[in-house]
Amino acid sequence: MQGPTEILKAMTKWLFAHLGIALFSLTVTAIVLTVGGIYHIYETILIYTNIVLLLPTPLWATIAWVFLSGVFIYIRMSKSQSLSPSKKPKYFKYCPECNYGINVKLPNIYCSCGTKYLEKCPNCNKKIIRDFGRICSFCGYNFPTKPKTGQEWMAR
Ligand SMILES: [Zn+2]
Ligand SMILES: [Zn+2]
Repeated sequence: MQGPTEILKAMTKWLFAHLGIALFSLTVTAIVLTVGGIYHIYETILIYTNIVLLLPTPLWATIAWVFLSGVFIYIRMSKSQSLSPSKKPKYFKYCPECNYGINVKLPNIYCSCGTKYLEKCPNCNKKIIRDFGRICSFCGYNFPTKPKTGQEWMAR
């Protein structure tokens, strides 16, 4: 007859095995998506993993269930993202005057409004990863809208 302790032990063992697989898939996914800024989610999960491993087993198992569901949802989301034939580029040249971005690979240097495209955030120097929104995805910096020449953005 199995007591609650045995069931819990078996559960923990199962969790360990599946956690390994989940983390492996996550690692692969993270490597693929590193450039997309999704990498920090993986780092966060790793930090949480370190925390929960220090906790006593019953609490650990509870948290692991929650954690695993999170991993599952995350993997499902990543999969649906990679499966959808998205032709959206990863990086953009962005015109803050028009609040509009184009594929960074396009040869255009100036927007049709005459403003020089931004390729990097003037504040944190990270590449622009979306084609709308005047606020930097990384540091929250508000891109200037009325520069004197447009050249000073690229100076840094
Ligand atoms: Zn423009
Ligand atoms: Zn920034």
